[in-house]
Amino acid sequence: MADRRVVVVGAGMGGLVSALLLAQRGLSVTVVDAATEPGGKVRRVMVDGAPIDSGPTVFTMKWIFEGILAAVGTRLEQELTVRPLPVLARHFWENGDRLDLFADPQASHDAVAAFAGPAEAQRFRDFCAQAREVYDTLEGPFIRSTSPTMGRMVGDLGLRGLSVLSRLGPMKNLWDALARHFRDPRLQQLFGRYATYCGSSPWEAPATLMLIAQVEMDGVWSVDGGMHALAGMLARLAQQRGVTFRWGARCERIELTGGRASGVLLQGGERLPADRVIFNGDVAALAGGLLGDAARAGAPAVGPRSLSALTWSIHAPTSGLTLDRHNVFFQDDYASEFEDIFQRGRLPRRPTVYLCAQDRGTGHEPQQAERLLGLVNAPARGDAPADPQTDEDLEQCQTTAFDLLRRCGLNLQPQPHQVLRTTPRDFHRLFPATGGALYGQATHGWMSAFARPGSNSPVPGLYLAGGSVHPGPGVPMAALSGHLAAAALMASPALTKRLHPVATSGGMSMP
Ligand SMILES: Cc1cc2nc3c(=O)[nH]c(=O)nc-3n(C[C@H](O)[C@H](O)[C@H](O)COP(=O)(O)OP(=O)(O)OC[C@H]3O[C@@H](n4cnc5c(N)ncnc54)[C@H](O)[C@@H]3O)c2cc1C
Repeated sequence: MADRRVVVVGAGMGGLVSALLLAQRGLSVTVVDAATEPGGKVRRVMVDGAPIDSGPTVFTMKWIFEGILAAVGTRLEQELTVRPLPVLARHFWENGDRLDLFADPQASHDAVAAFAGPAEAQRFRDFCAQAREVYDTLEGPFIRSTSPTMGRMVGDLGLRGLSVLSRLGPMKNLWDALARHFRDPRLQQLFGRYATYCGSSPWEAPATLMLIAQVEMDGVWSVDGGMHALAGMLARLAQQRGVTFRWGARCERIELTGGRASGVLLQGGERLPADRVIFNGDVAALAGGLLGDAARAGAPAVGPRSLSALTWSIHAPTSGLTLDRHNVFFQDDYASEFEDIFQRGRLPRRPTVYLCAQDRGTGHEPQQAERLLGLVNAPARGDAPADPQTDEDLEQCQTTAFDLLRRCGLNLQPQPHQVLRTTPRDFHRLFPATGGALYGQATHGWMSAFARPGSNSPVPGLYLAGGSVHPGPGVPMAALSGHLAAAALMASPALTKRLHPVATSGGMSMP
């Protein structure tokens, strides 16, 4: 097995996918994670005896997972039950307005027409066409590229792609780009919110992020057993292919010999020698020296942090309002939320509330207590020495968030034992060096998309995967980054000499 030993630090989506694909190619893979189970941010917590998905809940871009599983000789449907959701998301405003977006584009068009009039519905159609065009333009030259640069991307885009982006006004921010599409401020708010999927402000994110709306309109699925089952499935397949998992194993140092990654040192002193290392934690930890001084060179200094969150995992009954699976409750001063978070570094006084009703959306309506995840955006300051978020601030934010739900008509009054709160400080503890930022660096400014490191780090033998590296955050993107890291690793000359390139079905290929 000389030259074939790989250590993956982190069993988040990126790390799991890398490990699975590399084991499939015959490499000897060990995954170490400080946590006690797979998934990283794809977390499940027990509240009042019920398992609650307490990380990602919106599952999109299923095709990425189909491609990964095809590459290891199986099918997603064979390993997991996923169901398309007819309603993508239900949106509420305090004055009683309500809008559903549907998987069926015509149904969404009709809903927008009923909500905001036929002219706005036509503008919605035009917006969808442009978002589709932006997505199609960037998928190959940017999203699937191992490490895109501005120059390379311009070359790959070709005249057609460049004209799509110039029509968009690439230097515009998402908010201004949406103002050109919509007259109804509620729709600008609704589609501006997609910037937060990258942990960013709609006022600072580039207009190209409208492609996230397109990704969601292409379909949202629920996973039987919860999102956590997706991580469990990847870990199971990896294990079947020989991957060794070490839980509760924190990596303290990535070791270098002669300037090349040569293994890891675990907390407690154990050394795991390796020929190659993939780091799946946040690159801020590498850049900040948490993995040792030598490994610092593996990541450039990182830009401004993305959003953190204050979440409530809840097991309690609801009444008064018919929830769907994904529910968004808007307040009427949207700009203040991002000014509070990004300019003032404080919890929003007027937060938007996302509520995932995890037992809904697939035909079964909960009878009594139901499983919920409530989330509001928060500044990533969970590592500030004097905690800027006191218990009082957290309580205040919770009261404001639950008041908004009540004003929108939802009756939700969990008892203390029915709620588990997770704060930016908790996220910082789980994901070191982040301050609780959940999406790597913020995608602010039109060049920021190129600021994320690619799979190949500057340190030979050290590769990067996860939501803080290219192509960015989110379950499918982090999974894709794991695929890109595995492909970059397999492309190293020492391995390609012995292993012939293979093309795999499902659009994924490994050198
Ligand atoms: C509350 C919340 C809601 C979200 N909502 C959505 C959503 O609806 N849809 C969506 O697509 N995405 C969502 N996301 C984002 C998505 O979950 C992440 O982008 C993605 O899961 C990140 O995967 P990753 O590969 O970066 O690994 P991570 O999940 O960041 O995991 C990294 C792993 O590395 C381990 N690790 C780090 N350092 C070390 C070390 N030194 N030694 C050992 N182990 C280490 C950690 O313990 C962790 O397990 C959400 C995230 C959160 C937290």
